Amino acid sequence: MIKTFENGLLSSNVHLIYSLGEGMIVDCGVRVDTVKDFILENNIEVKYIVLTHGHYDHCGYLANYIKAFPMASVICHTDEVQVLTDSEANVSEYLGAPCVYNYDYKLVNEGDKIRVGELEFSVLHTPGHTPGGICLLCKEQKLMLTGDTLFKNGYGRYDFKYGDFKSLRQSLLRLLSLDGDIVFYSGHGEKSTIEGEQ
Ligand SMILES: [Zn+2]
Ligand SMILES: [Zn+2]
Repeated sequence: MIKTFENGLLSSNVHLIYSLGEGMIVDCGVRVDTVKDFILENNIEVKYIVLTHGHYDHCGYLANYIKAFPMASVICHTDEVQVLTDSEANVSEYLGAPCVYNYDYKLVNEGDKIRVGELEFSVLHTPGHTPGGICLLCKEQKLMLTGDTLFKNGYGRYDFKYGDFKSLRQSLLRLLSLDGDIVFYSGHGEKSTIEGEQ
């Protein structure tokens, strides 16, 4: 099951994946209160807080999420720590509120698996928007979380610090080569499919 919370920082989304009473929160740009209410109502034990990447609009409330779900492991890609801990790279500096996100991360890499109840997600390393951006693919459910790499009508910017067009192009080609039936849930905007409308 997936539940999307919208209207986060810079209109970002938070996605909650849950199965058999276990949960995984993807990104932290929406104030934690509504997310927490839903989690309590549905009796979900949050095992993971995953950051698709380290930009401010996806990590701004991370401290509040860690406080609300102290038992959860906080996951990011190995190459993303440099973004999280650099106020220029995580874009918070541009927005006039420089901060760094320096926590005890559980680092993941390409091909790692994350299990939530009966669902298994594979980590796809999709650099370009940031160096350690990840997508999470659940093959059984034909569901993918794409962060700011792929949107319904476009793709992420590559002009921030550590952004790179060549890598982003490679990452997008890889995603577009996946099964067209996969529904993807982005860091902003609506869900869609690889082939188009949803
Ligand atoms: Zn971003
Ligand atoms: Zn974003």
